[in-house]
Amino acid sequence: MFNGNWHQIIWKMEGPMLITLKFRKGVMPKNFRFRLFPILSFAILLFECHTIFGQQKVVVLDPGHGGKDSGAIGLNGIQEKDVVMRIANAILTLNDELDIPLDIYLTRYSDTLISLSDRTKLAKSLNVDLFVSLHCNHSDNSNSRGIEVFVADMKSKYSFNSTWLAFQLQVAINEKLGFESRGVKFANFQVLRETVDYLPSVLLELGFLSNEDEGGYIKRKENQKKISILILDYLKSIK
Ligand SMILES: [Zn+2]
Repeated sequence: MFNGNWHQIIWKMEGPMLITLKFRKGVMPKNFRFRLFPILSFAILLFECHTIFGQQKVVVLDPGHGGKDSGAIGLNGIQEKDVVMRIANAILTLNDELDIPLDIYLTRYSDTLISLSDRTKLAKSLNVDLFVSLHCNHSDNSNSRGIEVFVADMKSKYSFNSTWLAFQLQVAINEKLGFESRGVKFANFQVLRETVDYLPSVLLELGFLSNEDEGGYIKRKENQKKISILILDYLKSIK
């Protein structure tokens, strides 16, 4: 999806003026608009180019597992791979509705198994502000509950930022969803290990599917949308 080819957009204004713009694939604005009025059009164009090339945040969301790897399976039969895929897709849909959407990429867009190294390769190929691997938790103890956010246990120039972003994410979910917070933890997970030297990265364990309350909550479509909204709000807020 990001192979360095060029999209070509021909932007036509009233009169004889013709402007040709080129955007790399993957950074083409999703809300690019054609306008009738040249001055207004040009102002909007400049603004949108600024958001693309200047400030707009680039995020890679990594819905864990997929295909034959279902991840955790809840008491109610719900599968982790499906929950995180639905949440990631809902975030994309909500993002597309924004006036100025973030530049969000997924490591998978359907129920397929992607290797962990391919997931991190995508993130490393982009100038990413944050990589978020999405997971749900599981425990043999059905009383275990709450959210955990992991960062790599290795030191790099991104360690502090990753830890701060992880802290903010668990606070946001704790405050807005009411899930208990199990805190920010450090681990040697592959997706974190392979990104730690290149970009800020976190891994979110979004509640326990093995817990009746949390598994029941996460299974419901309207709650998945709530989770998507708050994750997108969080992504919009990161500096
Ligand atoms: Zn998982």
